[in-house]
Amino acid sequence: MTAAGFDTIVIGNGLIGSAAARHLAQWGRAVVVIGPGEPPDQTSHTGVFASHYDQGRLCGRSSADPVWGAINRLAVDAYPDLEARSGIDFHRGVGWLRAARLSDAERDALRRWIGRAEREHGITVTHHEPGDRSWRAAAPMLDYPTTHDIIIEPPPAGYLNPRQLLAAQNAIARANGATVVDRRVVDVRSGADGVTVTTDDGTSIEADRVLVTCGAFTNADGLLPEPIPLRVKTESTIWAAVAPSEAERLRSMPVTSFDIDHPDIDDLYVAPPIRYPDGVDRIKLGGNTASETWPTELDEIRAWFRAGTNPEQRVMEEALRTILPGVAIDEVTSHRCIVTYTPSGVPTIDAAPGDEHGRTFVATGGNGGGAQGSDTLGRLAAGLLADGRWIDGVDRDPFRAINRWGDGRAARSKAQARAARDRAEPSDPDETGGPG
Ligand SMILES: Cc1cc2nc3c(=O)[nH]c(=O)nc-3n(C[C@H](O)[C@H](O)[C@H](O)COP(=O)(O)OP(=O)(O)OC[C@H]3O[C@@H](n4cnc5c(N)ncnc54)[C@H](O)[C@@H]3O)c2cc1C
Repeated sequence: MTAAGFDTIVIGNGLIGSAAARHLAQWGRAVVVIGPGEPPDQTSHTGVFASHYDQGRLCGRSSADPVWGAINRLAVDAYPDLEARSGIDFHRGVGWLRAARLSDAERDALRRWIGRAEREHGITVTHHEPGDRSWRAAAPMLDYPTTHDIIIEPPPAGYLNPRQLLAAQNAIARANGATVVDRRVVDVRSGADGVTVTTDDGTSIEADRVLVTCGAFTNADGLLPEPIPLRVKTESTIWAAVAPSEAERLRSMPVTSFDIDHPDIDDLYVAPPIRYPDGVDRIKLGGNTASETWPTELDEIRAWFRAGTNPEQRVMEEALRTILPGVAIDEVTSHRCIVTYTPSGVPTIDAAPGDEHGRTFVATGGNGGGAQGSDTLGRLAAGLLADGRWIDGVDRDPFRAINRWGDGRAARSKAQARAARDRAEPSDPDETGGPG
């Protein structure tokens, strides 16, 4: 069966793909977004997975990285409009409290950055130096050592529900004429007359252009003419269930991220209690762990998602209990996710190398922080496909597919630094695909 008549096919109905499809649809393009929904049972799932199967992602308008700052501000500023137009709430502005162990030089840099955030973007970030405990008036449920600087970004920083954000993007896209197809793509052909995409039920869909936004699976399935430089890291979280009364007591808790001196965990962050689909309120802690791996084969990613308890669950739980000393925690469970890194530390959004017809584009690589700014990332990709437009004030170069490991912008997180370190490049994907 062949379905034709589309300007654009977006492959991957994730956070970036759903945003790109929404922008294209609103600009009057005939767009179809193709991607499977969340697997009902991860343990037996044989298809692809995504990085957004969860209820909470941290979001903020300030970033020490100017490129991410611009991306995130545009996106966060657009949330109220997206919520209003879709009728779907996905965002809560509870503020973001960062607890950092800083050297004197880093503290000076922080002060300069806070000044710029206020002057250039009107963001009033509060800074409490080590020993100043007055910040606890704003977040009495949290406790951090007096060795840490406390940095508080006010709302609309907070968290978003990625499933609800995706639903909102799809709802607005559909209302503007987009088609959403719940299937996996298994083949992409670009030719002189257009692109033909085949889904796993044998349907062929034709269009003028195609955008591949498949997260950790972008280099799999032969979706791109040639693989782009991506590194994929396993990411662990723990979810701590709390009683409804405890969740209500913690309603004003900010999201928080913190430095910890521990051989097995770093780059930790916590989302306050959020209601999960089973009706249970859970606090989430995530971060990097000593047992993390960098899978290069599709089957390794699938195996990671399907099963296992995080070896670091106990130390992660200890860290959570230490920063939330008075909180009554019930059951704690381990969960698995995946993060995709690019050489520049921001997503690759570009024409895909190797397509002589210039019809294939790619947008992928959230580098562990792509949810909050996904609306802007989708808009950048949509603009490139539509007529080559970009957003003023967003540096184009870090997004190019020609960037290579070692070209080097400064890493934003410890995991980005590890991604950029020398490691064997994965072999080229064969027909069954390697994620790269
Ligand atoms: C544990 C964890 C915590 C995170 N916390 C934060 C946070 O606090 N703040 C933040 O901003 N970001 C956070 N992130 C990162 C953020 O979730 C990702 O950057 C974001 O989801 C990336 O969006 P994406 O569209 O590139 O990929 P995804 O959201 O993974 O979407 C890719 C889509 O492609 C689809 N797909 C794959 N292969 C195919 C195929 N062959 N055919 C069709 N579809 C296909 C998948 O089904 C999926 O829906 C976190 C990530 C993890 C794992």
